[in-house]
Amino acid sequence: MPGERRGPVGWESENPYYEGRKHPEPTVCERCGLVYRDGHWQRADSVPPEAHRSVCPACRREMDRYPGGYLFLRGEYWPRHWDEILNLIRNQEAQAQLSRPLHRILWVEPHDGEMEIATTTAHLARRLGKAIHSAHKGELTIHQPKGEPLVRVVWQRD
Ligand SMILES: [Zn+2]
Repeated sequence: MPGERRGPVGWESENPYYEGRKHPEPTVCERCGLVYRDGHWQRADSVPPEAHRSVCPACRREMDRYPGGYLFLRGEYWPRHWDEILNLIRNQEAQAQLSRPLHRILWVEPHDGEMEIATTTAHLARRLGKAIHSAHKGELTIHQPKGEPLVRVVWQRD
């Protein structure tokens, strides 16, 4: 779509995964318990009884297995340092969730000698890739065509 900066026409309003989508307030995610309030999904100690019910974008992506980002680990290095890398990834996820609970890892699965890590958001995939790059060197490449919401981050070290 020429002229569109953030994806196809209507992407923001019709895409159920779009995080900025408006919900009535308060709305509770019936799957994970996050509450939509003050314009974003957040953790809540209690849910107001009058809260509307819906499913948050992160849970929708989990149910549909529809990631917002991918990180691929390639080369000979990662299998030998897997425990360390997995720890780093889980720590980064936990830190990201403190401020943005919609940042989640959807799955971690090996395929044909590479490790595929799928995330709910492009932001988290980039963050994980950068953290691995800074701790373990190697080469980091980020693929995200203009106007494309999905990011593919590739980290490689032989
Ligand atoms: Zn949820």
